[in-house]
Amino acid sequence: MPILTVKCPQCGHEFQGLVLAGTQQPKIWVCSKCGSNKAEIMPEKKPIPHPWEAGHGNGLCPCCL
Ligand SMILES: [Zn+2]
Repeated sequence: MPILTVKCPQCGHEFQGLVLAGTQQPKIWVCSKCGSNKAEIMPEKKPIPHPWEAGHGNGLCPCCL
């Protein structure tokens, strides 16, 4: 369940898009700021593992809190 960085070319807003496990990445991302559907994944930003899947010991997973 990676978190992707998505950027809107219209307003420059960057936001994070979550891809649910077992699903395809959406082809269209809607900007959460201006509503444009032209937002694109920024390929130079590596997907961040979801904190709950990043493993133990970093204080982020529920069992280590
Ligand atoms: Zn936008």
